[in-house]
Amino acid sequence: MRKERINQLNDKDFNFSGKYVLYCMENAQREDYNHALEFAIQIANQYTKPVVVAFFITDKYKYSNQRYYRFMLEGIIKTKNQIQKRGINFVIKKDDFVNGCLSLSKDAFCIVFDKSYLKTQRNWRYKVAEKSDVKIFEVETDVIVPIEVVSKDMVPYAYIYRKKLENLFFEFLYDYQKLEPKIKTEIDLESLNFEEPQNYLDILNIDKSISTVEKYYKGGFDEAENRLKDFIERKLSYYKEFRSDPSKDYQSNLSPYLHFGQISSQKIMVEILKHYDFQDENIQSFYNEAVVWRELARNFCYYNSFYNYYEGIPEWAKKTLEEHLSDKREYIYDIDILENAKTHDIYWNAAQKELLITGKMHNYMRMYWAKKLIEWTDHPQKAFDIACYLNDKYELDGRDPNGYAGISWCFGTHDRPWTERKIFGKIRYMNDKGLERKFDIHKYVKKWITTL
Ligand SMILES: Cc1cc2nc3c(=O)[nH]c(=O)nc-3n(C[C@H](O)[C@H](O)[C@H](O)COP(=O)(O)OP(=O)(O)OC[C@H]3O[C@@H](n4cnc5c(N)ncnc54)[C@H](O)[C@@H]3O)c2cc1C
Repeated sequence: MRKERINQLNDKDFNFSGKYVLYCMENAQREDYNHALEFAIQIANQYTKPVVVAFFITDKYKYSNQRYYRFMLEGIIKTKNQIQKRGINFVIKKDDFVNGCLSLSKDAFCIVFDKSYLKTQRNWRYKVAEKSDVKIFEVETDVIVPIEVVSKDMVPYAYIYRKKLENLFFEFLYDYQKLEPKIKTEIDLESLNFEEPQNYLDILNIDKSISTVEKYYKGGFDEAENRLKDFIERKLSYYKEFRSDPSKDYQSNLSPYLHFGQISSQKIMVEILKHYDFQDENIQSFYNEAVVWRELARNFCYYNSFYNYYEGIPEWAKKTLEEHLSDKREYIYDIDILENAKTHDIYWNAAQKELLITGKMHNYMRMYWAKKLIEWTDHPQKAFDIACYLNDKYELDGRDPNGYAGISWCFGTHDRPWTERKIFGKIRYMNDKGLERKFDIHKYVKKWITTL
């Protein structure tokens, strides 16, 4: 494994009387293409120890609700079974990440984390690293090329990130090897062992008013693999032409699986390149989204601590938006009208309904949706906060660097100034005429307005 993936989080030593190498799984909820898991096995083999993988379920996470918890639990139950098949211990505990790791760390030889780019998750890891008495490693398995290898700073534009990735992409693409655990001892640790997501949901104090969406998206690596197969066979050859069209279904729909780490972007690209040439225009287009924009979003969250705030947008964007604060807004909507898709704009309402019903809004509509919030609130800061709130609450793939970077993009991040206009200033504008001109947008509206 490339050493650039591995980072030591504290200067403690191995605990030589420790019984197991502990991998506290969080961001990469999978068995396959999981460098953190393989690294834990590598250390365990080197020091003749078994591995324990631990997963902690807390009901205190952001907007904890049964929609995304169910999806996550469907995935984790399958991942647990896959990992156990390799002779590795897997425990599930109802606890928060920091407490959970610390209580299991007492008998650990060392701890391994998978890397995450969001503040909350990074703080969890730092807290454990500070309080625990054992050596802690963090392993990059969320992106193909580790963020710090690409750049030590925030990269302002996607074209620069693409250029920086050019040589590194193939250097890192095949950097993965599965190892056989030498010691397969069963460790007697308490664990929740339900096989049904509902049993976990029953013991969690989370918001159960938001519908679950298993009719549209079921969690799990197997579901992700089926979608990938279907994408490669049926959609990928049309991706460049149709991916932006909300009336058609040519996106991969892999984002919920990527968000929970049920599939890795590395595996997706490796599988795709078994069937297609890298230079094919559809592959270039997909690479641009799944690697360039996805990894740029992680760069953004890693180097900009205001990634989830209006304050995090570029200075020119703030200046131009604020110069237009006193421009007359034709509509001002409060959160209730927006959340319940009751605005005057049928396209926006359809997008919001797609989100309420399925847990995933089409990419093109996400841009339109967030841009309209700028028009319909009296301050762009309010628009930014509402976008984050609705996105994180209802999207299965919400609470993700892509979401914060995507919302911030609508406010000027990773974009350039455009022609000046009302309310938006120099921020790129989108309107309903564009939707009508480019797509059969009424087909999209019909699908979602009649379903609710
Ligand atoms: C306002 C707004 C909010 C968004 N919120 C989220 C979010 O919460 N979570 C999320 O994963 N994405 C978000 N995006 C990015 C993008 O819309 C989704 O990743 C995409 O629609 C997911 O569908 P898919 O997997 O079918 O996409 P595909 O087109 O099949 O793309 C494959 C993968 O590439 C990555 N990708 C695609 N577009 C982007 C992008 N613009 N930026 C970064 N990565 C991208 C995703 O990981 C995606 O799963 C948001 C974009 C905007 C403009």
